Amino acid sequence: MLETIAIGSKDRVFVLTGAGISAESGLPTFRAEDGLWAGYNVEDVCTPEAWQRNPAGVWAFYSARREAGFKAEPNTGHVALAELEQRLGDRFFLCTQNVDDLHERAGSVRLVHMHGELAKSRCERQCGRPPVEDRHLYSSLEEVGRCACGGRLRPHIVFFGEIPLELGRIEREIAKATLMLVIGTSGSVYPAASFVRWARQGGARTVYVGLEEPLNATAFTQIVTGKAGETLPGLFQVE
Ligand code: NAD
Repeated sequence: MLETIAIGSKDRVFVLTGAGISAESGLPTFRAEDGLWAGYNVEDVCTPEAWQRNPAGVWAFYSARREAGFKAEPNTGHVALAELEQRLGDRFFLCTQNVDDLHERAGSVRLVHMHGELAKSRCERQCGRPPVEDRHLYSSLEEVGRCACGGRLRPHIVFFGEIPLELGRIEREIAKATLMLVIGTSGSVYPAASFVRWARQGGARTVYVGLEEPLNATAFTQIVTGKAGETLPGLFQVE
């Protein structure tokens, strides 16, 4: 029998997604065991130190991620979550660790990108100016613009070692949730990997959907093994 998740009229659903939900759209996941992302060592391209040492190399990496992300299309997993949001309205909240925009393009609205967004840039200094839309693919540092304060523009990405975005709002949404659904994330990147325990402490049901058990598997009340694009459509029984 196919597994289903019952969602009652009083349930509030918090969804956390990771790289696995975009895998079927052709975007490579981050490999926790060897620390490689799209063939790169994350230390060389996604840390504040890498940015200080080699901003041209960081921009080359994120320009390639932009190019791949802009060409990719949402898959049936992204669409299933957008449809669930349409049915639940403000009883639904989505937090993604992904920097691609496939959730928005599938129709999701109530979402935050806790690790930033590929299609934006921001000042490298903490000068307080907000991120700007930027879809440029940079092939040299000379092309990269400057903020009004003089700082160089950097990708609007939370590098490893930096503090994720919107943590206050995320905490408030988790506190309200009665069901936490975690999809396609290995449970190796913190603080996202702790969210399931925060939800359990508040008494929520916690369900994982993904190819294999995550590292934090013991914190889940239910584990559904499979590809997100095949499993999510038809998974929810909304009352
Ligand atoms: P991860 O690569 O560590 O884990 C991905 C998980 O998804 C694995 O457990 C894997 O078993 C599972 N998976 C693979 N294919 C799947 C599928 N078709 N359906 C369901 N599950 C599948 O990813 P993470 O935990 O999200 O951590 C990676 C970090 O790197 C994140 O912080 C993210 O910001 C970044 N990243 C983003 C993207 C993106 O934006 N698309 C891609 C790679 C990495």
